[in-house]
Amino acid sequence: MATHNVTLIRGDGTGPELVEATRRVLEAAVATSGSSFNWDVVEAGVDIMETAGTPLPDNVLASIRKHKVALKGPITTPIGTGFRSVNVALRKELDLFACVRPCKTYEGVRSRYDNIDIVIVRENTEDLYAGVEWPVDSPEAGKIIDMAEGKIRRDAAISIKPISRTGTRRIVKHAFDYAIENGRKKVTAVAKANIMKYTDGLFYEVAREVAKDYEGRVEYDEWLVDAMCMQLVQKPENYDVLVMENLYGDILSDLGAGLVGGLGVAPGANIGEDTALFEATHGSAPKYKGQNKVNPTALILSGLLMLRYLKETDAANRLEKAVSSVIAEGKDVTYDMKPDRNDPTAVGTSQMADAIIARMA
Ligand code: NAD
Repeated sequence: MATHNVTLIRGDGTGPELVEATRRVLEAAVATSGSSFNWDVVEAGVDIMETAGTPLPDNVLASIRKHKVALKGPITTPIGTGFRSVNVALRKELDLFACVRPCKTYEGVRSRYDNIDIVIVRENTEDLYAGVEWPVDSPEAGKIIDMAEGKIRRDAAISIKPISRTGTRRIVKHAFDYAIENGRKKVTAVAKANIMKYTDGLFYEVAREVAKDYEGRVEYDEWLVDAMCMQLVQKPENYDVLVMENLYGDILSDLGAGLVGGLGVAPGANIGEDTALFEATHGSAPKYKGQNKVNPTALILSGLLMLRYLKETDAANRLEKAVSSVIAEGKDVTYDMKPDRNDPTAVGTSQMADAIIARMA
């Protein structure tokens, strides 16, 4: 029995309706255990931009720093112009270094595969996403081209790929600890160390060191990222927890979501030393804004990860059973979960949430 103080970021586009559906489901899930939520509701994104002059007002970060746990609806990032990504800013500001994305098959979801249960652990702060790059013909790019002694063409733009011992150790350790806490058997490190001998080589070297501390408890193996893609398409049932750098993690997360039925069912967690932010993998789907149409499952399953993080194990199990049962029945589900996307019997976002709540009663 506990009261959980949680920051609730409503987001924009379809975010507010998805967040509202998820909030109701989570409250119902913990109620039976006698627990409750004390939501600190804050606004970020396109809608607050007009009044606050920024898409990420200070009170949002302050609230998360205070409560240490947040649930977030998707937030739009304008392409080419406008503000920088609020999603990336939140992960950076709060040093949420681990992006954990379970890819699990729920019976009744349309997919070419069944029985998949993989967890992708992606490093969130380093690699080619560090934002250290220089444009073509710039003096900085020129200096690096000079240093490369003929290996790089003069008309190249340059991106830097930093992979540190510290960053690698904490993400690999996170993957192993996750494996232990969740009864998982194996961690697979994924990189391309045959080509990037120093950066990806260091990733493997540190991963092996960390793996030694877990010997006898969790198995360890390694795959090159290209071979891993084929393995996941051909034999996904052979894999358990996969740990990788930022770029490979970004790409393999979408591959993993595709294996289990797509964005509508792909949840995520961004985790730091003492802070965690839970959000779906999908974006704000702005064309459906205000239509009570899109699938709340991905955000509800992100809420399920939050329940596990908060040690609300009974509530999490109850919720997972209810979600599985609604999806398996296939009646009270949104349009994207129907075999025919124009099926007139598809329900809306809030009605699917109602069906899940009813199963927990
Ligand atoms: P998107 O995920 O918002 O939508 C792509 C398509 O996927 C939609 O048109 C819809 O057909 C489908 N879809 C997405 N979510 C769905 C759901 N819950 N139920 C049913 N169908 C769903 O991707 P996009 O159009 O590339 O991005 C829109 C905006 O969201 C962009 O500004 C992008 O930067 C942003 N974004 C935010 C996050 C985040 O908040 N973490 C993540 C990804 C993208």
